[in-house]
Amino acid sequence: MATLHHIHSINFSSVFPSHSSSSSLTKRSLSYKYKFPATGNRMARLYSSSDDRAKVFDVVIVGAGIIGLTVARQFLMDSDLSVAIVDKGLPCSGATGAGQGYLWMTHKTPGSATWDLSMRSHQLWTMMAENLQEQGLDPIVELGWKKTGSLLVGRTRAESDMLKGRVKQLSEAGLKAEFLGSSDLLKREPDLLVDKDTAAAFLPDDCQLDAHRTVAYIEKGNRNFASKGRYAEFYDDPVKCFIRSDCNGGVEAVQTSKNTLYSKKAVIVAAGCWTGSLMQDLFRNWGMEFHVPVRPRKGHLLALQNFNSLQLNHGLMEAGYVDHPSISDLESSDHGRDLSVSMTATIDAAGNLLVGSSREFAGFNTDLDESVITHIWKRVGDYFPKLRSLSVSDLSTSRKVRIGLRPYMPDGKPVIGPVSGLSNVYLAAGHEGGGLSMALGTAEMVVDVVLGRPGKVDSAPFAVDRVLE
Ligand SMILES: Cc1cc2nc3c(=O)[nH]c(=O)nc-3n(C[C@H](O)[C@H](O)[C@H](O)COP(=O)(O)OP(=O)(O)OC[C@H]3O[C@@H](n4cnc5c(N)ncnc54)[C@H](O)[C@@H]3O)c2cc1C
Repeated sequence: MATLHHIHSINFSSVFPSHSSSSSLTKRSLSYKYKFPATGNRMARLYSSSDDRAKVFDVVIVGAGIIGLTVARQFLMDSDLSVAIVDKGLPCSGATGAGQGYLWMTHKTPGSATWDLSMRSHQLWTMMAENLQEQGLDPIVELGWKKTGSLLVGRTRAESDMLKGRVKQLSEAGLKAEFLGSSDLLKREPDLLVDKDTAAAFLPDDCQLDAHRTVAYIEKGNRNFASKGRYAEFYDDPVKCFIRSDCNGGVEAVQTSKNTLYSKKAVIVAAGCWTGSLMQDLFRNWGMEFHVPVRPRKGHLLALQNFNSLQLNHGLMEAGYVDHPSISDLESSDHGRDLSVSMTATIDAAGNLLVGSSREFAGFNTDLDESVITHIWKRVGDYFPKLRSLSVSDLSTSRKVRIGLRPYMPDGKPVIGPVSGLSNVYLAAGHEGGGLSMALGTAEMVVDVVLGRPGKVDSAPFAVDRVLE
C-alpha cells in the first residue's frame, strides 16, 4: 500500500517557526506548556484556522509494534473513533519483528496474573483465524497460522513430575492437555533425543503465527479505514514530546519530529521496551518524574531457511523455559554474564526452522553476538542430535538472525491502563516474551478501559500505578 503517513499534508511553519532542530522544537513546545499555559489553546486555534486538514484524531497511538497495531485495529473495529499510529521506525523494527510466533499456553500457569489475559487472547487469535477461513481466505497465508500443538519437554525425573502436575492443572483450567511419556513422545517427534526420563506436556490446540505476515494483515485491515478518514499512520517519525492541555490535565497533542497529532480522546503509549525511557523523557520536560520500570531484554533467534535436515511435527520448548536457566549454570566459561538460553523450535509457514532463544539485559544494544548463536545452536543440539554434525559456520548461507528487545517488567506483568494525573494517557507495554500471544486481549482491554466498558478480563492486575517508583 502506498505510504499513508502523508495523506494529510500541513504546513507547520506558522506554529513552529524554528524547525531546524527537533530539540529546539521540543524545548519550544514544552517550555511554553510549562511556563505559559495559555499558549496551548492558541496553538490549537492557529492550527485549525491555518489549515482545515489539521491532524486531529480521537486516538493517537505511540508505537506500531504488535501491541500498538492491534490496539489501533480494535478501536477501528469496535468503535467509531479515528486513530493515528506513529512509530520511530517501521512496525517490525521493534521486538515484534524478532518474535518466534508461538501463542502457546503450555508454559503459562493457570491462576497466574497473565493467565486470563493469555486465555482471552488465545481465543481471539483463534477466532481471527476461523473468520479468515469463513471468508475463504487461508490463515496460513494471511497470518502464518499453524495449529501444530506444543510440547513442553523435560529431561529429568523432576521435570517429568513437574510436567505431570502442569498437565493436570491445564486440564482443570479447561485446556486439552496430555502427558507424554518417553515412548509416546518419541512417536510424535522421532528426531528428538529421548531417554527413559524424557517426557512432555502436550497441548494439541496450541497455535503459532508468523509475526511479519500477521503485522502485514493487521496493517492492511487498519488501512481500509483510511479512506473513511478514520486512520492514518506516521512511520519513521519519532515522538519528541507531549503537548499538555490547559483545561483537562491531559495531553492535547503528540509532537513527533515531523507532525503534531492532536488527540481528542486518548493517547496510548505502546512503545515496547522504550516506554519507560520515553515516558521519563516526556515527563522530565515538564519538571516531573515518571518511572515505569520496563527494561529491554535482548533476544537472539536463529532462522534457517528451507531447513530439511530435521523433522519437527510440533512446536517445542524446553521445560526450563519457564525459569530461563542462565548460561553460567550451563557453561562455566560464561560465568558472570547475565545470559540465558532456552531451547525453542518451530517451523514457520514458509518452512523455515526457527530455533531460539536467548535472554540478556544488554541495554538497548541490538548488535549480533555470534557467541550467543553458538550457545543457541549447542542447546538445540542437546535436544536434536542430528544437528550436532552441523556447525554454526556451516549455516552461514542459509541463516538469518533475528534480534529484538523484549519489554521486560520486573513483576512479569504488562502495564495496561490509565496514567494517573493525565486524564487521557494510557500505557500498553511490558509484555516481555509474550506480546504476540497477549496482543489481542491487550487491545480489547485497552479499548474497554478507554471507553469505560466492563472488560472481559479484569484489568486491575495490570494497573500502571502498581509499578510507579
Ligand atoms: C527473540 C524473540 C522471540 C520472541 N518470541 C515470541 C513468541 O514466540 N511469542 C510471543 O508471544 N512473543 C514473543 N516475543 C516477544 C514479543 O516479540 C514482544 O513481547 C512483542 O513484540 C512486544 O510488542 P510491542 O508492540 O510492545 O513492542 P515492539 O514491537 O518493540 O514495538 C514498540 C514500537 O515502539 C516504537 N517506538 C519506540 N520509541 C518510540 C518513539 N519515541 N516514537 C515513536 N515510536 C517509538 C518502536 O519503534 C517499536 O516499533 C519474542 C521476542 C523476542 C526478542
